[in-house]
Amino acid sequence: MSNLESKLDALTRKLYGRPIDQVTNAEMYQVLLQFVKDLTDEKKEITGDKKVYYISAEFLIGKLLSNNLINLGVYDELEDILQKNGKTIAVIEDEEPEPSLGNGGLGRLAACFMDSIATLGLPGAGIGLNYHFGLFKQVFTDRLQMAEKNDWIEKNSWLRKTDTSFEVEFGGGRKVKSVLYDIDVIGYENGVDKLHLFDLESLDESLVKSGIDFDKEDIEKNLTLFLYPDDSDEAGNLLRIYQQYFMVSNGAQLIIKEMKDKGYDLYEMDKHVAIQINDTHPTMVIPELIRLLTWDEGFTMDDAISVVSRTCAYTNHTILAEALEKWPLDYLNRVVPQLVPIIKELSARIAKTNKDPKVQIIDADKRVHMAHIDIHYGYSVNGVAAIHTDILKQSELNAFYKLYPDKFNNKTNGITFRRWLLSCDRPLAKFLDETIGTDYRKDADKLTDLLKYKDDEAVLTKIADIKKQKKAELIEYVKKNEGVSLDPESIFDIQVKRLHEYKRQQMNALYIIHKYLEIKAGKKPKRPITCIFGAKAAPAYVIAKDIIHLLLVLQEIVNNDPDVSPYLKVLMVTNYNVSYAEKLIPACDISEQISLASKEASGTSNMKFMLNGAVTLGTDDGANVEIHELVGDDNIFIFGVDSDTVIKHYEKADYVSKDYYKKSKVIKEAVDFIVGPEAMKVGHKENLERLYNELLNKDWFMTLLDLEDYIAKKDEIFEAYEDQAKWRRMMLVNIAKAGYFSSDRTIADYDKDIWHLK
Ligand SMILES: *Cc1c(COP(=O)(O)O)cnc(C)c1O
Repeated sequence: MSNLESKLDALTRKLYGRPIDQVTNAEMYQVLLQFVKDLTDEKKEITGDKKVYYISAEFLIGKLLSNNLINLGVYDELEDILQKNGKTIAVIEDEEPEPSLGNGGLGRLAACFMDSIATLGLPGAGIGLNYHFGLFKQVFTDRLQMAEKNDWIEKNSWLRKTDTSFEVEFGGGRKVKSVLYDIDVIGYENGVDKLHLFDLESLDESLVKSGIDFDKEDIEKNLTLFLYPDDSDEAGNLLRIYQQYFMVSNGAQLIIKEMKDKGYDLYEMDKHVAIQINDTHPTMVIPELIRLLTWDEGFTMDDAISVVSRTCAYTNHTILAEALEKWPLDYLNRVVPQLVPIIKELSARIAKTNKDPKVQIIDADKRVHMAHIDIHYGYSVNGVAAIHTDILKQSELNAFYKLYPDKFNNKTNGITFRRWLLSCDRPLAKFLDETIGTDYRKDADKLTDLLKYKDDEAVLTKIADIKKQKKAELIEYVKKNEGVSLDPESIFDIQVKRLHEYKRQQMNALYIIHKYLEIKAGKKPKRPITCIFGAKAAPAYVIAKDIIHLLLVLQEIVNNDPDVSPYLKVLMVTNYNVSYAEKLIPACDISEQISLASKEASGTSNMKFMLNGAVTLGTDDGANVEIHELVGDDNIFIFGVDSDTVIKHYEKADYVSKDYYKKSKVIKEAVDFIVGPEAMKVGHKENLERLYNELLNKDWFMTLLDLEDYIAKKDEIFEAYEDQAKWRRMMLVNIAKAGYFSSDRTIADYDKDIWHLK
């Protein structure tokens, strides 16, 4: 028996009084949870003279068992031990609930970044909240999205309770106490950092009665129940501010405490601490730190502002106006009155020297522009892909760029290859190990060594075989979980991401309608097509939920039509999350990245798909632009108007969707289908008519502008799939060129340009 095996055997017997082959998978999961924690305790904590604190409302970490085993370097040995005992890690991992601490790309990015920070051996910590019911769990009833609480915390979990606790005060004399839980962040073959998740000591889960409804005003009991509680009313808005302040006040107190514990001089905070503010949710950390330094530590206002401004850096994630937070001063006065004089002071200092209304912190309507606090009082402002940073500089934040050209920098997003290759596609990772060696695991650029095999028949066949295997695994999973049968010979065309009009799932839906009508008219595709979607819509986002309804209606119509279903299938998976992504992405042939140019800041699923050998069908938007540059015109399918054109349409307000509808028979037929008899029979009049009217009369994200081009390019990519020799080469080139998108590269760049930890 190996050392590892005897340890595991001993732990299993200790916990359950039985050997490994005689415990259930659920019991084995409990054993492995403890086992990993024990192994982690033997690892060294990553320390250093300067530490980065990554503050984020979201950490979409996904299940941790496999990834922790990989990063500890024991996955393969453990898998062998378990297999000898009739078990596998994959099956045991089914027992693990997925932590529900994030929403989409921004939260997943934070999780990938933590993995890379630890993997690069950088001293760092995540700071966030421990939402008990997380983001909601999605279910479909009557082809409508319903939201349930996602109850993910079990008695034993990756959370480790600490003794750390702080008091946080709110307006009206409200005072609450926090409890800090930690999750270990294990670097790949490196030491350990921490993800700090603050929780509310007085939280009361029983406040949630049915669905996701609860008393939004009972903040002593509700603060850490949900991520992004419904903010369609005033109480919801106030609650979000309560949550944000609870997060940053705890974070600020922790940072100051750690500095003091290490004996550092608070006047030298910037020498020992970098605070990365992930989007605007944590912005109040700036005034909160200033408050703590001036109230408790004897700093002058000038000194406090100076040192905090040299410590905080801001990442912008979007140019969508509605996503840039602007809190009414009155709300802040009610929730955090102690910050208001500081925010007013910060605002006044700007207003004194700069009259441009575009750069004010408090505007004429007495709303506080959170991003403006970050930009004026942080030392770095970064966008998340080259095109996004350019748009920030040249248009969205141009007034700020002129003030502070040196603050602006680009950090193209990345993904951790441990989760998005080594763990989710083990056969591909193993094949890469055998073909190009294992160096790429630590140095992702080494993936380009694969290009040598661009014309190697055996290598290309193997890559195609692995894809086939991952498709078969997905088919089995989908059959079990969704009750839908998929054709393994069909092309898997996948669009998975949060539901938003700018991402244009509705354009994909219109293509499906178009294809359906073509097939009905006798024009059959050469090979069957499977269109897969996964997406949650924010519960208050009405049109987004209508789009989900349309997709479910199409699924019903298409899959049950005997003339059509042999050639076309539609599947909307339930409750798309990280675990689902890990199954879908390795099985994908065509990666749908079809946002309206200029609107997708970066995207990261585009990177995951590429790394797993899918070919991108996309607009020149976000990181697609960089993918396009890396793989070249021959290995990607780009369509649609470019971002300059889109930005001009917005400036001139000259896009009229009805013009496109009237001009094109194809567009008209597809749009009319939404309210036609087949759809109305299966779907709800209210939802379908609302969506139809939106597309015809508003279409804010210009679906119809690109629809014809999209249809043509999509038919072209399906045709290209038929030349399998060429297609396989495209798969290989995409994998080989994905190295740039390792979050290890992104984090090394953050460190070199912003944090300066090493
Ligand atoms: C990567 C990821 C995202 C981000 O997807 P985009 O297509 O980049 O918006 C969202 N959700 C999950 C579960 C992910 O893994």
